[in-house]
Amino acid sequence: MTEPFKRVDYEEIAPRLGSSCMPEDLPYFTDDENAFRMEVRDFAIKEILPYVDQIDENQDKKLTTQIGKKAAAAGYSNQMIPKEWGGGGRDCTAELIVMEEMAAPGWVAPAHLVPTCTFLAMPIYSHGTEEQKKNVMMGLLKGEYVGGMGMTEPAAGSNVAGTETTAVRDGDDWVLNGEKRFIGNGSQADYLLMYALSDPEAKTSKKLTSFILDTKTPGFEVVKDYPLMGMGGMALSWLKMTDVRIPDSMRLGEPGQGFEVAMNELDPERAAAGGLFIGPMRTAYEIAAKYATQRIQFGTPIGNHQAIGFRLSDMFIKLETSRLLAWRCARTVDMHKPATKESSALKLYTSECCVDVLGEALQIVGGIAYTKDYPIERLIRDARVYTLFGGTSEMQRMIISRSILGQAAKWMK
Ligand SMILES: Cc1cc2nc3c(=O)[nH]c(=O)nc-3n(C[C@H](O)[C@H](O)[C@H](O)COP(=O)(O)OP(=O)(O)OC[C@H]3O[C@@H](n4cnc5c(N)ncnc54)[C@H](O)[C@@H]3O)c2cc1C
Repeated sequence: MTEPFKRVDYEEIAPRLGSSCMPEDLPYFTDDENAFRMEVRDFAIKEILPYVDQIDENQDKKLTTQIGKKAAAAGYSNQMIPKEWGGGGRDCTAELIVMEEMAAPGWVAPAHLVPTCTFLAMPIYSHGTEEQKKNVMMGLLKGEYVGGMGMTEPAAGSNVAGTETTAVRDGDDWVLNGEKRFIGNGSQADYLLMYALSDPEAKTSKKLTSFILDTKTPGFEVVKDYPLMGMGGMALSWLKMTDVRIPDSMRLGEPGQGFEVAMNELDPERAAAGGLFIGPMRTAYEIAAKYATQRIQFGTPIGNHQAIGFRLSDMFIKLETSRLLAWRCARTVDMHKPATKESSALKLYTSECCVDVLGEALQIVGGIAYTKDYPIERLIRDARVYTLFGGTSEMQRMIISRSILGQAAKWMK
Protein backbone atom coordinates (compact mmCIF):
# COMPACT_ATOMS: atom_id res chain seq x y z
CA MET A 1 0.00 0.00 0.00
CA THR A 2 1.32 3.48 -0.85
CA GLU A 3 1.51 5.94 2.00
CA PRO A 4 -0.51 9.12 1.31
CA PHE A 5 1.60 11.32 3.59
CA LYS A 6 5.35 10.96 3.68
CA ARG A 7 5.56 13.86 6.14
CA VAL A 8 2.82 15.75 7.97
CA ASP A 9 3.61 19.45 8.00
CA TYR A 10 2.61 21.46 11.03
CA GLU A 11 0.45 23.76 8.91
CA GLU A 12 -1.73 20.78 7.92
CA ILE A 13 -2.73 20.15 11.51
CA ALA A 14 -2.16 23.62 12.98
CA PRO A 15 -3.95 23.79 16.30
CA ARG A 16 -6.67 26.32 16.83
CA LEU A 17 -5.79 26.33 20.50
CA GLY A 18 -8.36 23.82 21.61
CA SER A 19 -11.08 24.84 19.16
CA SER A 20 -10.79 21.35 17.76
CA CYS A 21 -10.44 19.31 20.93
CA MET A 22 -12.36 21.32 23.51
CA PRO A 23 -16.09 21.79 22.87
CA GLU A 24 -17.45 25.31 23.07
CA ASP A 25 -20.05 24.24 25.63
CA LEU A 26 -18.18 22.41 28.38
CA PRO A 27 -20.87 21.16 30.78
CA TYR A 28 -19.29 22.40 33.99
CA PHE A 29 -19.26 26.04 32.83
CA THR A 30 -22.33 28.28 32.55
CA ASP A 31 -23.38 29.64 29.14
CA ASP A 32 -21.88 32.99 30.09
CA GLU A 33 -18.58 31.35 31.10
CA ASN A 34 -18.45 29.31 27.89
CA ALA A 35 -19.03 32.49 25.87
CA PHE A 36 -16.25 34.18 27.84
CA ARG A 37 -13.92 31.23 27.04
CA MET A 38 -14.50 31.75 23.32
CA GLU A 39 -13.95 35.51 23.64
CA VAL A 40 -10.60 35.05 25.41
CA ARG A 41 -9.58 32.32 22.93
CA ASP A 42 -10.25 34.67 20.00
CA PHE A 43 -7.98 37.23 21.62
CA ALA A 44 -5.24 34.61 22.10
CA ILE A 45 -5.51 33.41 18.49
CA LYS A 46 -5.36 36.92 17.04
CA GLU A 47 -3.09 38.77 19.44
CA ILE A 48 -0.71 36.17 20.89
CA LEU A 49 -0.36 33.08 18.67
CA PRO A 50 1.23 34.92 15.70
CA TYR A 51 4.13 36.17 17.88
CA VAL A 52 5.05 33.24 20.13
CA ASP A 53 7.78 31.68 17.98
CA GLN A 54 9.43 34.99 17.17
CA ILE A 55 9.43 35.98 20.86
CA ASP A 56 10.99 32.66 21.81
CA GLU A 57 13.64 32.91 19.13
CA ASN A 58 14.60 36.54 19.84
CA GLN A 59 14.06 36.40 23.62
CA ASP A 60 12.01 39.52 23.03
CA LYS A 61 11.11 40.95 26.45
CA LYS A 62 9.72 44.19 25.00
CA LEU A 63 7.21 42.44 22.74
CA THR A 64 6.26 40.11 25.62
CA THR A 65 5.46 43.12 27.80
CA GLN A 66 3.63 44.83 24.95
CA ILE A 67 1.35 41.82 24.38
CA GLY A 68 0.80 41.36 28.12
CA LYS A 69 -0.17 45.01 28.55
CA LYS A 70 -2.56 44.71 25.61
CA ALA A 71 -4.21 41.69 27.24
CA ALA A 72 -4.57 43.58 30.53
CA ALA A 73 -6.00 46.64 28.77
CA ALA A 74 -8.48 44.39 26.92
CA GLY A 75 -9.94 43.35 30.31
CA TYR A 76 -7.99 40.15 30.95
CA SER A 77 -6.01 41.57 33.87
CA ASN A 78 -7.40 39.94 37.00
CA GLN A 79 -10.95 38.66 37.01
CA MET A 80 -11.13 38.53 40.81
CA ILE A 81 -10.80 42.31 41.15
CA PRO A 82 -13.88 44.49 40.51
CA LYS A 83 -14.16 46.47 37.27
CA GLU A 84 -14.22 49.83 39.05
CA TRP A 85 -10.68 49.09 40.25
CA GLY A 86 -9.47 48.04 36.79
CA GLY A 87 -10.01 44.28 37.18
CA GLY A 88 -12.19 41.96 35.11
CA GLY A 89 -15.00 42.02 37.68
CA ARG A 90 -15.79 38.30 37.49
CA ASP A 91 -14.42 35.57 39.77
CA CYS A 92 -11.77 32.87 40.23
CA THR A 93 -13.46 30.55 37.71
CA ALA A 94 -13.18 33.32 35.10
CA GLU A 95 -9.54 33.89 36.04
CA LEU A 96 -8.94 30.15 35.52
CA ILE A 97 -10.50 30.49 32.06
CA VAL A 98 -8.29 33.48 31.21
CA MET A 99 -5.13 31.70 32.37
CA GLU A 100 -5.92 28.60 30.29
CA GLU A 101 -6.67 30.50 27.11
CA MET A 102 -3.71 32.86 27.53
CA ALA A 103 -1.30 29.98 28.16
CA ALA A 104 -2.52 27.75 25.32
CA PRO A 105 -0.22 29.39 22.71
CA GLY A 106 2.76 29.58 25.12
CA TRP A 107 4.20 31.54 28.00
CA VAL A 108 3.91 35.05 26.56
CA ALA A 109 0.87 36.81 28.03
CA PRO A 110 1.23 34.99 31.39
CA ALA A 111 4.85 36.23 31.59
CA HIS A 112 3.38 39.71 32.04
CA LEU A 113 -0.03 39.00 33.60
CA VAL A 114 1.00 36.63 36.41
CA PRO A 115 3.68 38.80 38.08
CA THR A 116 1.81 42.06 37.37
CA CYS A 117 -1.85 41.29 37.95
CA THR A 118 -1.65 38.27 40.26
CA PHE A 119 1.55 38.57 42.34
CA LEU A 120 1.32 42.35 42.83
CA ALA A 121 -2.19 43.64 42.09
CA MET A 122 -4.02 40.97 44.12
CA PRO A 123 -2.22 41.62 47.44
CA ILE A 124 -2.68 45.37 46.95
CA TYR A 125 -6.39 44.79 46.38
CA SER A 126 -6.62 42.69 49.57
CA HIS A 127 -4.31 44.68 51.87
CA GLY A 128 -3.58 48.04 50.23
CA THR A 129 -4.64 51.54 51.13
CA GLU A 130 -6.96 53.54 48.89
CA GLU A 131 -3.92 55.54 47.74
CA GLN A 132 -1.92 52.39 46.86
CA LYS A 133 -4.89 51.05 44.90
CA LYS A 134 -5.39 54.27 42.97
CA ASN A 135 -1.72 55.10 42.36
CA VAL A 136 -0.32 51.64 41.67
CA MET A 137 -2.88 48.84 41.39
CA MET A 138 -5.16 50.46 38.84
CA GLY A 139 -2.24 51.21 36.52
CA LEU A 140 -1.10 47.56 36.76
CA LEU A 141 -4.55 46.25 35.92
CA LYS A 142 -5.13 48.65 33.05
CA GLY A 143 -1.89 47.66 31.32
CA GLU A 144 -0.03 50.88 32.10
CA TYR A 145 2.56 49.50 34.55
CA VAL A 146 4.61 46.34 34.83
CA GLY A 147 4.78 44.63 38.21
CA GLY A 148 6.34 41.70 40.00
CA MET A 149 7.02 40.14 43.37
CA GLY A 150 10.31 39.55 45.16
CA MET A 151 10.20 36.71 47.64
CA THR A 152 12.99 34.34 46.60
CA GLU A 153 16.52 35.05 47.84
CA PRO A 154 19.85 33.22 47.86
CA ALA A 155 19.01 31.66 51.27
CA ALA A 156 15.21 31.70 50.91
CA GLY A 157 13.86 29.35 48.25
CA SER A 158 11.21 26.90 49.37
CA ASN A 159 11.80 28.09 52.92
CA VAL A 160 10.55 31.67 53.02
CA ALA A 161 11.67 31.90 56.63
CA GLY A 162 15.23 32.11 55.29
CA THR A 163 14.61 35.70 54.11
CA GLU A 164 17.69 37.84 54.81
CA THR A 165 16.69 41.15 53.17
CA THR A 166 16.26 43.61 56.02
CA ALA A 167 13.85 46.51 56.48
CA VAL A 168 14.73 49.04 59.19
CA ARG A 169 12.42 51.91 60.14
CA ASP A 170 14.08 55.35 59.84
CA GLY A 171 11.74 58.30 60.41
CA ASP A 172 8.96 58.20 57.81
CA ASP A 173 10.88 55.69 55.69
CA TRP A 174 11.96 52.07 55.78
CA VAL A 175 15.49 51.27 54.61
CA LEU A 176 15.83 47.99 52.69
CA ASN A 177 19.05 46.04 52.04
CA GLY A 178 19.36 42.65 50.38
CA GLU A 179 19.14 40.53 47.23
CA LYS A 180 16.30 38.87 45.39
CA ARG A 181 16.78 36.11 42.83
CA PHE A 182 14.59 34.62 40.08
CA ILE A 183 12.10 37.49 40.07
CA GLY A 184 9.66 37.39 37.15
CA ASN A 185 9.51 40.79 35.38
CA GLY A 186 12.17 42.09 37.80
CA SER A 187 14.17 44.10 35.25
CA GLN A 188 11.06 45.37 33.45
CA ALA A 189 8.95 46.31 36.44
CA ASP A 190 7.70 49.75 37.46
CA TYR A 191 6.69 48.40 40.88
CA LEU A 192 7.70 45.32 42.88
CA LEU A 193 6.25 43.76 45.99
CA MET A 194 9.22 43.18 48.29
CA TYR A 195 9.24 41.03 51.40
CA ALA A 196 11.81 41.93 54.06
CA LEU A 197 12.81 40.95 57.57
CA SER A 198 11.52 43.73 59.83
CA ASP A 199 11.63 41.94 63.20
CA PRO A 200 14.25 39.17 63.32
CA GLU A 201 13.34 38.35 66.95
CA ALA A 202 9.64 37.77 66.27
CA LYS A 203 8.15 34.33 65.64
CA THR A 204 8.42 33.21 61.99
CA SER A 205 4.91 34.30 60.97
CA LYS A 206 5.56 37.87 62.27
CA LYS A 207 9.12 38.45 61.04
CA LEU A 208 8.35 39.86 57.59
CA THR A 209 6.82 43.08 56.30
CA SER A 210 5.82 43.69 52.69
CA PHE A 211 6.51 46.88 50.72
CA ILE A 212 5.63 48.29 47.31
CA LEU A 213 8.90 49.40 45.75
CA ASP A 214 9.01 51.97 42.96
CA THR A 215 11.91 50.64 40.87
CA LYS A 216 13.11 54.19 40.11
CA THR A 217 14.15 54.50 43.78
CA PRO A 218 17.93 55.06 44.24
CA GLY A 219 19.80 51.97 45.48
CA PHE A 220 17.65 49.53 43.48
CA GLU A 221 19.73 47.63 40.95
CA VAL A 222 19.19 44.89 38.37
CA VAL A 223 22.27 42.68 38.63
CA LYS A 224 21.25 40.60 35.60
CA ASP A 225 18.52 38.73 33.79
CA TYR A 226 19.14 34.98 33.70
CA PRO A 227 19.32 33.25 30.31
CA LEU A 228 16.60 30.56 30.52
CA MET A 229 15.93 27.04 29.24
CA GLY A 230 12.48 28.17 28.02
CA MET A 231 9.99 30.98 28.52
CA GLY A 232 11.78 33.07 25.90
CA GLY A 233 10.85 36.71 26.37
CA MET A 234 10.40 36.43 30.11
CA ALA A 235 12.68 38.52 32.32
CA LEU A 236 13.85 36.45 35.28
CA SER A 237 15.97 38.79 37.32
CA TRP A 238 18.57 38.97 40.03
CA LEU A 239 17.93 42.17 41.97
CA LYS A 240 19.84 44.06 44.63
CA MET A 241 18.78 46.74 47.12
CA THR A 242 21.36 48.95 48.83
CA ASP A 243 19.92 51.43 51.34
CA VAL A 244 16.71 51.67 49.34
CA ARG A 245 14.34 54.09 51.11
CA ILE A 246 10.65 53.24 50.89
CA PRO A 247 8.15 55.65 52.47
CA ASP A 248 5.94 54.13 55.16
CA SER A 249 2.94 54.99 52.97
CA MET A 250 4.16 52.24 50.59
CA ARG A 251 4.21 49.56 53.27
CA LEU A 252 1.62 46.92 52.31
CA GLY A 253 -0.34 45.72 55.32
CA GLU A 254 0.82 46.10 58.92
CA PRO A 255 4.42 45.72 60.11
CA GLY A 256 4.98 41.98 60.66
CA GLN A 257 2.07 41.03 58.38
CA GLY A 258 4.24 40.13 55.36
CA PHE A 259 3.95 36.37 55.79
CA GLU A 260 0.16 36.66 56.00
CA VAL A 261 0.07 38.92 52.90
CA ALA A 262 1.99 36.24 50.99
CA MET A 263 -0.05 33.27 52.25
CA ASN A 264 -3.48 34.94 51.86
CA GLU A 265 -3.26 34.94 48.10
CA LEU A 266 -2.14 31.37 47.62
CA ASP A 267 -5.55 29.64 47.33
CA PRO A 268 -6.94 31.86 44.52
CA GLU A 269 -3.51 32.14 42.89
CA ARG A 270 -3.01 28.37 42.66
CA ALA A 271 -6.63 27.72 41.71
CA ALA A 272 -6.31 30.04 38.71
CA ALA A 273 -2.78 28.85 37.95
CA GLY A 274 -4.24 25.45 37.04
CA GLY A 275 -5.18 27.08 33.74
CA LEU A 276 -1.54 27.90 33.03
CA PHE A 277 -0.74 24.19 32.94
CA ILE A 278 -3.97 23.05 31.25
CA GLY A 279 -3.52 25.49 28.33
CA PRO A 280 -0.30 24.04 26.86
CA MET A 281 -1.40 20.50 27.77
CA ARG A 282 -4.49 20.96 25.63
CA THR A 283 -2.51 22.39 22.73
CA ALA A 284 -0.08 19.46 22.72
CA TYR A 285 -2.89 16.90 23.10
CA GLU A 286 -4.70 18.39 20.12
CA ILE A 287 -1.59 18.38 17.93
CA ALA A 288 -0.72 14.79 18.86
CA ALA A 289 -4.26 13.48 18.31
CA LYS A 290 -4.56 15.14 14.89
CA TYR A 291 -1.08 13.96 13.91
CA ALA A 292 -1.94 10.38 14.89
CA THR A 293 -4.79 10.40 12.38
CA GLN A 294 -2.59 11.73 9.56
CA ARG A 295 0.80 10.12 9.87
CA ILE A 296 0.92 6.73 8.14
CA GLN A 297 3.44 4.06 9.11
CA PHE A 298 3.19 0.35 8.37
CA GLY A 299 0.21 1.12 6.10
CA THR A 300 -2.06 2.67 8.71
CA PRO A 301 -2.37 5.93 10.67
CA ILE A 302 -0.08 5.64 13.68
CA GLY A 303 -3.07 6.17 16.02
CA ASN A 304 -4.23 2.69 15.02
CA HIS A 305 -1.11 1.20 16.58
CA GLN A 306 -2.29 0.44 20.09
CA ALA A 307 0.87 1.85 21.69
CA ILE A 308 0.03 5.26 20.24
CA GLY A 309 -3.75 5.09 20.73
CA PHE A 310 -3.33 4.16 24.41
CA ARG A 311 -0.94 7.08 24.92
CA LEU A 312 -3.70 9.37 23.64
CA SER A 313 -6.16 7.78 26.08
CA ASP A 314 -3.85 8.51 28.99
CA MET A 315 -3.27 12.07 27.78
CA PHE A 316 -7.02 12.67 27.57
CA ILE A 317 -7.54 11.38 31.12
CA LYS A 318 -4.78 13.63 32.47
CA LEU A 319 -6.26 16.63 30.70
CA GLU A 320 -9.83 15.97 31.83
CA THR A 321 -8.94 15.21 35.47
CA SER A 322 -6.79 18.36 35.57
CA ARG A 323 -9.73 20.37 34.24
CA LEU A 324 -12.15 18.94 36.79
CA LEU A 325 -9.75 19.51 39.68
CA ALA A 326 -9.18 23.10 38.53
CA TRP A 327 -12.88 23.78 38.12
CA ARG A 328 -13.72 22.32 41.55
CA CYS A 329 -10.97 24.35 43.19
CA ALA A 330 -11.93 27.65 41.50
CA ARG A 331 -15.59 27.10 42.45
CA THR A 332 -14.54 26.50 46.08
CA VAL A 333 -12.61 29.80 46.08
CA ASP A 334 -15.65 31.54 44.55
CA MET A 335 -17.76 30.20 47.42
CA HIS A 336 -15.25 31.87 49.81
CA LYS A 337 -14.34 28.53 51.32
CA PRO A 338 -10.78 27.50 52.24
CA ALA A 339 -9.08 25.57 49.44
CA THR A 340 -5.51 25.17 50.66
CA LYS A 341 -5.25 21.40 50.27
CA GLU A 342 -7.27 21.49 47.05
CA SER A 343 -5.27 24.30 45.45
CA SER A 344 -1.97 22.62 46.33
CA ALA A 345 -3.28 19.34 44.87
CA LEU A 346 -4.31 21.21 41.75
CA LYS A 347 -0.95 22.97 41.34
CA LEU A 348 0.96 19.72 41.88
CA TYR A 349 -1.22 17.48 39.73
CA THR A 350 -1.82 19.76 36.75
CA SER A 351 1.81 20.89 36.51
CA GLU A 352 3.03 17.27 36.57
CA CYS A 353 0.34 16.21 34.07
CA CYS A 354 1.40 19.07 31.81
CA VAL A 355 5.04 17.92 31.78
CA ASP A 356 3.91 14.31 31.16
CA VAL A 357 1.42 15.13 28.39
CA LEU A 358 3.92 17.31 26.53
CA GLY A 359 6.45 14.48 26.69
CA GLU A 360 3.86 12.04 25.35
CA ALA A 361 2.99 14.44 22.53
CA LEU A 362 6.66 14.56 21.53
CA GLN A 363 6.81 10.77 21.52
CA ILE A 364 3.72 10.49 19.31
CA VAL A 365 4.75 13.13 16.79
CA GLY A 366 8.24 11.64 16.70
CA GLY A 367 11.41 13.16 15.28
CA ILE A 368 9.80 16.22 13.79
CA ALA A 369 8.47 17.20 17.23
CA TYR A 370 12.08 17.67 18.31
CA THR A 371 12.51 20.31 15.60
CA LYS A 372 11.26 23.86 15.63
CA ASP A 373 8.81 23.04 12.83
CA TYR A 374 6.42 22.05 15.61
CA PRO A 375 5.79 24.05 18.81
CA ILE A 376 6.03 21.00 21.08
CA GLU A 377 9.73 21.48 21.89
CA ARG A 378 9.06 25.13 22.85
CA LEU A 379 6.11 24.16 25.06
CA ILE A 380 8.25 21.48 26.73
CA ARG A 381 11.06 23.95 27.46
CA ASP A 382 8.53 26.36 28.96
CA ALA A 383 6.71 23.71 30.95
CA ARG A 384 9.65 22.02 32.65
CA VAL A 385 9.66 24.74 35.31
CA TYR A 386 5.97 24.35 36.18
CA THR A 387 6.73 21.75 38.87
CA LEU A 388 9.30 24.10 40.41
CA PHE A 389 7.99 27.63 40.56
CA GLY A 390 5.03 28.79 42.63
CA GLY A 391 6.01 26.16 45.21
CA THR A 392 7.74 22.94 44.12
CA SER A 393 5.88 19.61 43.90
CA GLU A 394 7.65 18.56 47.10
CA MET A 395 6.31 21.63 48.94
CA GLN A 396 2.79 20.96 47.66
CA ARG A 397 2.95 17.36 48.88
CA MET A 398 4.09 18.69 52.26
CA ILE A 399 1.13 21.11 52.44
CA ILE A 400 -1.36 18.44 51.36
CA SER A 401 -0.09 15.77 53.76
CA ARG A 402 -0.01 18.19 56.71
CA SER A 403 -3.57 19.20 55.96
CA ILE A 404 -4.74 15.57 55.67
CA LEU A 405 -3.04 14.62 58.94
CA GLY A 406 -4.49 17.68 60.72
CA GLN A 407 -7.95 16.74 59.54
CA ALA A 408 -7.51 13.05 60.31
CA ALA A 409 -6.56 13.86 63.91
CA LYS A 410 -9.97 15.55 64.25
CA TRP A 411 -11.73 12.53 62.71
CA MET A 412 -10.42 10.50 65.68
CA LYS A 413 -12.48 12.55 68.16
C1 LIG B 1 10.76 30.75 35.86
C2 LIG B 1 10.75 31.08 37.31
C3 LIG B 1 9.95 32.14 37.77
C4 LIG B 1 9.98 32.51 39.11
N1 LIG B 1 9.29 33.61 39.52
C5 LIG B 1 9.46 34.07 40.80
C6 LIG B 1 8.90 35.34 41.19
O1 LIG B 1 8.27 36.04 40.38
N2 LIG B 1 9.12 35.75 42.49
C7 LIG B 1 9.81 35.01 43.39
O2 LIG B 1 9.95 35.45 44.53
N3 LIG B 1 10.36 33.81 43.03
C8 LIG B 1 10.21 33.33 41.76
N4 LIG B 1 10.80 32.15 41.38
C9 LIG B 1 11.52 31.35 42.35
C10 LIG B 1 10.81 30.04 42.71
O3 LIG B 1 9.66 30.32 43.46
C11 LIG B 1 11.82 29.15 43.45
O4 LIG B 1 12.75 28.72 42.49
C12 LIG B 1 11.14 27.98 44.13
O5 LIG B 1 10.39 28.44 45.23
C13 LIG B 1 12.14 26.95 44.64
O6 LIG B 1 13.17 27.56 45.34
P1 LIG B 1 14.69 27.18 44.97
O7 LIG B 1 14.85 27.28 43.52
O8 LIG B 1 15.57 28.01 45.83
O9 LIG B 1 14.83 25.65 45.36
P2 LIG B 1 15.12 25.04 46.80
O10 LIG B 1 14.17 25.52 47.81
O11 LIG B 1 16.58 25.16 47.09
O12 LIG B 1 14.78 23.51 46.52
C14 LIG B 1 15.61 22.67 45.73
C15 LIG B 1 14.97 21.26 45.74
O13 LIG B 1 14.88 20.78 47.10
C16 LIG B 1 13.54 20.46 47.41
N5 LIG B 1 13.27 20.76 48.83
C17 LIG B 1 13.52 21.91 49.50
N6 LIG B 1 13.13 21.78 50.79
C18 LIG B 1 12.59 20.54 50.91
C19 LIG B 1 11.97 19.82 51.98
N7 LIG B 1 11.79 20.34 53.20
N8 LIG B 1 11.54 18.55 51.74
C20 LIG B 1 11.67 18.00 50.51
N9 LIG B 1 12.24 18.63 49.45
C21 LIG B 1 12.69 19.88 49.67
C22 LIG B 1 12.69 21.32 46.48
O14 LIG B 1 11.39 20.82 46.32
C23 LIG B 1 13.53 21.27 45.22
O15 LIG B 1 13.27 20.10 44.53
C24 LIG B 1 10.78 31.77 40.04
C25 LIG B 1 11.55 30.70 39.58
C26 LIG B 1 11.57 30.36 38.25
C27 LIG B 1 12.48 29.26 37.79
